[in-house]
Amino acid sequence: MPNEVRVRFAPSPTGPLHIGGLRTALYNYLFAKKNNGKFILRIEDTDKGRYVEGSEKHIVDSLNWTGLMVDEGPYRQSERKLLYKKKILELVHKEKAYYAFDTKEELDSTRNELEKKGGVFVYNSDNRLDFKNSLSLGKKRTEELLANKTPHVIRFKMPKNSKIIFRDLLKGEISVNSSTLDDKVLYKADGSPTYHFANVVDDNDMAISHVIRGEEWLPSLPLHWLIYDSFGWKKPDFLHLPLILKPEGKGKLSKRDGEKFGFPVYPIKWNSDEKVNLGFKEFGFLPEAVINYIAMLGWNPGGEEEVFQLKNLISTFSTGKLNSSGSRFDYKKSVWFNQQHIQLLGNDFLCKALKESLVDNQINPSGEKICDVVPLIKPRLNLLTEIFEAGVYFFRSPSNYNKGLTDSLKTDSSRAIIKEVILSLEQLKSSTKDNVKPVLDKISKNNSIGFGKIMKLVRTGLVGSLKGADVFEIIQFIGKQEVVSRLKALDEVLSK
Ligand code: GLU
Repeated sequence: MPNEVRVRFAPSPTGPLHIGGLRTALYNYLFAKKNNGKFILRIEDTDKGRYVEGSEKHIVDSLNWTGLMVDEGPYRQSERKLLYKKKILELVHKEKAYYAFDTKEELDSTRNELEKKGGVFVYNSDNRLDFKNSLSLGKKRTEELLANKTPHVIRFKMPKNSKIIFRDLLKGEISVNSSTLDDKVLYKADGSPTYHFANVVDDNDMAISHVIRGEEWLPSLPLHWLIYDSFGWKKPDFLHLPLILKPEGKGKLSKRDGEKFGFPVYPIKWNSDEKVNLGFKEFGFLPEAVINYIAMLGWNPGGEEEVFQLKNLISTFSTGKLNSSGSRFDYKKSVWFNQQHIQLLGNDFLCKALKESLVDNQINPSGEKICDVVPLIKPRLNLLTEIFEAGVYFFRSPSNYNKGLTDSLKTDSSRAIIKEVILSLEQLKSSTKDNVKPVLDKISKNNSIGFGKIMKLVRTGLVGSLKGADVFEIIQFIGKQEVVSRLKALDEVLSK
């Protein structure tokens, strides 16, 4: 690539950043880093009506949490108004754009009349002279109206009947006839640019080399293409990313899907007026897992490997391996990635997390012991939020057995087994992970009771449920006395 790679993530602060936006940011970031380029953040806040308080902060905090550090920015379009004003006047001067004085009421009434007759309203080369604009009114009248500060917009003068051929890196060459497009407003009556204009002016001004954005912007590309041509600017390369689809596969993933299925759609929590929406972070995801999962949602590095750290994603990334159609969001798969990344974590991190969760629940064991538990619970940990439940029984006896005591276990024979286990354990000097198994084996054989049933009972007695780490590891960790006391407590419950 001859010139410096400069890409931008250009969200509008119209709400929280969701994972679709984060994925766009990620692909831009990966592309920049892979090519020793720059990753720029630009907040496109020209539409005051759609501005949502707090969204810029949510965008920046989300990028920081996931480690997608920007090289430049955030730039804010609201702080760059002079540039747009200068550039729009340049375009008017080149006769590529023109003043339009039609009021909203006038346009609405023309639209209504047309629609009544089954027509579709357009404002373009076919009919622009029927409206009130600098092309129909002439220079003198236009100057008068401008001098009188008559409210006006500035429209792009879309060429008549010309074939616009434009290119997208994923979709190839596409062509449209300019007569199907209209004279889009580039500059609004309040003196601010529209998205299209500010976006192109900024991409040029910031020397953006590649525009990588969501597929929903592809229909805007012919207009953007022509704005570049009108100025005589060199165009960046464009790449429009296919959508992230709903779990069932049809339509774009939306925040409502998160509510419907109970999974997060924001990287970090978002407090809306009505409620707090928890993000991946609060659900117990590691940022590296979120990044890894969304990288794979639309990009396929080829080969067997799926688990990547950010730095490996950078070295492996190439736009040639982006999927050309949408990818379905799969929450279970994202949890799998999290489980995989938890395995890559150092034990210190999990030890700290476990300790915090215990302290939060008024349990205060000594530090070293906590760290010993980490390797025992780590392999089964899917979400960091599960850590308390995954480890608490090493430090506290169960408060109930509801999750373990199925009806088939609530029998007299269960009591008999428990009693025998207690008796046999009491005869041991100490309980280790190696000396208890033969004891249980013997009880199983002598009484012709399945080993599995004995294990279920013992596990229930120690953990309170049928989940948790290896039973013999638990036995060794908590020690003989505690094992016996927990089994006695279970026997007590079974006797009722
Ligand atoms: N502001 C647009 C958005 O919110 C940016 C589109 C683009 O990247 O050009 O998605």
